[in-house]
Amino acid sequence: MSAPAPSGPAGPVQEIEERRFGPLLVRIDRTLCVGFGDCIDEAAEVFELDAEGICAFRADARDPGRERLLAACRSCPVDALLLLGDGGVQLAP
Ligand code: SF4
Repeated sequence: MSAPAPSGPAGPVQEIEERRFGPLLVRIDRTLCVGFGDCIDEAAEVFELDAEGICAFRADARDPGRERLLAACRSCPVDALLLLGDGGVQLAP
């Protein structure tokens, strides 16, 4: 039996979010995020903290380029950000 999804004021929280930037795929595991915002320091045009203080993609997220996406995903202290490249190669964490 699985635990019910956590619920916020806007309804159930999406635990995994994915966004593609060109050949790169970023996945946020929101169950791991502790909300310190290191990723936002690296790529504020991609990530934001939602009303619960958990990382999410900005609605208007723009591609910051490969190097800054790498830096942002590698900056996460709890490995909540997965970055996959061509062919599903894991680039971060
Ligand atoms: S760096 Fe990691 S823990 Fe910090 S806000 Fe981003 S996803 Fe969450």
